Amino acid sequence: MKRSVREVDPDGDTLLILRNPDAPFAVIDSFWPDLLPTHTPPMKNTEQQLGSFERSLRKPQIQQQNKEELRLRLSSTHLTFASAYFKAMMSNDWRETRPEEGYSFVVTAEEWDQEALLILMNIIHGQTTEIPRAMSLEMLAKMSALVDYYMCHKAVHFFAQTWIANLTDPVPEIYGRELLLRLCISWVFSEAEIFKKLTDTALYQCRGPIHSPGLPIPGDVIDALETKRQNFVSEVISELHDLKSRLYKDKGHKDKGDCSFECSSILLGALIKGMNTICILEPPLSESLEGYSIRALEKAVLSIQEPNYSSMPDSYSLCTGETHTRTYVKYAKHAKYAKKPHRCTLSEKIRGILDPKIEAIAGLELNAFTNQV
Ligand SMILES: [Zn+2]
Repeated sequence: MKRSVREVDPDGDTLLILRNPDAPFAVIDSFWPDLLPTHTPPMKNTEQQLGSFERSLRKPQIQQQNKEELRLRLSSTHLTFASAYFKAMMSNDWRETRPEEGYSFVVTAEEWDQEALLILMNIIHGQTTEIPRAMSLEMLAKMSALVDYYMCHKAVHFFAQTWIANLTDPVPEIYGRELLLRLCISWVFSEAEIFKKLTDTALYQCRGPIHSPGLPIPGDVIDALETKRQNFVSEVISELHDLKSRLYKDKGHKDKGDCSFECSSILLGALIKGMNTICILEPPLSESLEGYSIRALEKAVLSIQEPNYSSMPDSYSLCTGETHTRTYVKYAKHAKYAKKPHRCTLSEKIRGILDPKIEAIAGLELNAFTNQV
């Protein structure tokens, strides 16, 4: 076994042993199926990237134990001052049963990235001349995982601001590993605006609970996003079924605001066919609605085919029931509507269900979660 020792503090009393260093980081080994596969629009670059991300997840990950060890000589005074983790350890009579010769304290760690751990320990020990001013998204995510674990946010605050400012990667706009790395950074270093933007993207695009492969992304955050996704999907599907029922029961009583018999019959037929095509006519198989992203459901529902009225006589396609535009939905309580011949469309009725929900989608507020800690 190769044993290298780095004297971060040559007078230090603490030995930190990092075992199995540089283990695979943030590996995602499962993914959510796409239950609306036939309604994916022609592939754009972003979607191709998402597809390749998912394919990459299917590759078996062969993880070999790294026999190398990194040994760091550190100062318990610096560690307990900078890190709540070490402070708590010290207050719990932190002593290894078999301390190594030349050290008062021994602590072990596993799988961290050697370079990231060394940078963190150099900062904690005031050895800042060789600290990089810029780093990759990957390395910054590794740093944030360490900072979260050892609870030393204040010690790295200044450097974290610099690293974030110097990130060259744009904020990810596609749900995938990069987005999760950036989300973890925004959480650990309290970037409220970025956190909201990334959770908004994740909420719109993910087909199940967001992945958190060993990253410090709180369960509360994952649960909040998942609840929002499930509510959106179940409400849209349920309200489309309600629309179907209304059209089904519509008796064509124009004086009661019903659609004409011809209008509701045409729309009902088209809606049932459309819902069958996108596989939402039957209740979804999974109660947790995994496999449905908000984005895919929106596109699928908007792809429901509108009847072609151009070949129909006006007596079939014109309706004297009340209009069902978005304006109607929004101001229904306050306005009266003239019942004049007009053409109802399926897309108006569908958009009346979908659009308010899409407009209400928003990412999460960081402080709603940090205040609980
Ligand atoms: Zn109508």
